[in-house]
Amino acid sequence: MSMNGKKLIELRGITKSFDGEVVLDNISLDIYEDEFITLLGPSGCGKTTTLRIIGGFESPDSGDVFFDGVRINDTPPYKRHINTVFQRYALFPHLNVYENIAFGLRVAKVKDDGEISRRVREMLEMVNLKGFERRHVTTLSGGQQQRVAIARALINKPRVLLLDEPLGALDLKLRKDMQNELKNMQKRTGITFIYVTHDQEEALSMSDTVVVMNGGSIMQIGTPTDIYNEPKNAYVADFIGESNIVDGVMLDDFSVKMSGQTFVCVDKGFGKDTPVDVVVRPEDVDVVSPESGMLRGKVTSVTFKGVHYEVIVDIGGFKWMIQTTDYVAPDAVIGIDIEPDAIHIMNKSEYSGMFGDYSSFSDELDALSENSEEEED
Ligand code: ATP
Repeated sequence: MSMNGKKLIELRGITKSFDGEVVLDNISLDIYEDEFITLLGPSGCGKTTTLRIIGGFESPDSGDVFFDGVRINDTPPYKRHINTVFQRYALFPHLNVYENIAFGLRVAKVKDDGEISRRVREMLEMVNLKGFERRHVTTLSGGQQQRVAIARALINKPRVLLLDEPLGALDLKLRKDMQNELKNMQKRTGITFIYVTHDQEEALSMSDTVVVMNGGSIMQIGTPTDIYNEPKNAYVADFIGESNIVDGVMLDDFSVKMSGQTFVCVDKGFGKDTPVDVVVRPEDVDVVSPESGMLRGKVTSVTFKGVHYEVIVDIGGFKWMIQTTDYVAPDAVIGIDIEPDAIHIMNKSEYSGMFGDYSSFSDELDALSENSEEEED
């Protein structure tokens, strides 16, 4: 699985512009056999373009694409061992489920009807659509149509499957089911899945490897736990889940000062008295009594979120977000503690300061609710 396997695809220094605008800026990426790898990033960051370059539907302006060590820049899509599943299912409406799935084999000139039938049935079983052979695809639900599309893409056993937001059109519950199914299919077939999504939870829950992209560049490549626990910069920290990103100074190895207090941390090698970004996940902040807390502040809002409360607390003018299962009263003065391994230190980057505290967001909300009150008047 993943990086232990053999390198299958290499992107080297890929650059691509459309109408003078750089969409991919010198991207390099290794993709392994039997890997579930996800390109994750906001709309327009270049995920789909990267996928299309791997599939051969788009050529890079510069840089090379290697498949199994062979340069394939000039290899047309149908000669690459790669199939694609798009967000919109792109099934043939005039064909039934069986013929839609068999299509890939017919194109590949498989003539033996017995073999076609055996492989279509095998695929139907894998995507949980046994017995659906004769159904017309127009009578299927969105989730079922997407299963047919996946079966069709897998039947001729590609080495790689490209999936561009394939669950984007499905509702939340179905999405979750399909996420599990896709992951199982990838494991069972051993085919490399290259998945594109802007949904960080989806990326974290399915992938062996996550590639976080922004503005045509790769911000970080790592396992879901790496990306979540050790974000490389403020951009990744903010994009992957909620974070408190606080200005700090690394006093020495294992010692960081923020909000006027010195905390023990597990990071080292930043040098003495180095300004850093300190990232703390909201669920890693412990609420304690004001007397015993490392920091103290006043609660400015409490929102019930089902599993936990989301608490905003003002500590010396910086608004921290805390997620806690214990009820905290609005307006209460509380103390907070943070364990050393919950403190993540990052070098200052061009993204520092873009994601401050949670006050700007609550200000925006205030402004919105004021506007709506005015409209009611
Ligand atoms: P989304 O999730 O919205 O699809 P993305 O991260 O997949 O976003 P891309 O589809 O790769 O992003 O697009 C990156 C940028 O390149 C966008 O600004 C897009 O408008 C532009 N772009 C993509 N394809 C073309 C094209 N064929 N011609 C002109 N501009 C394009």
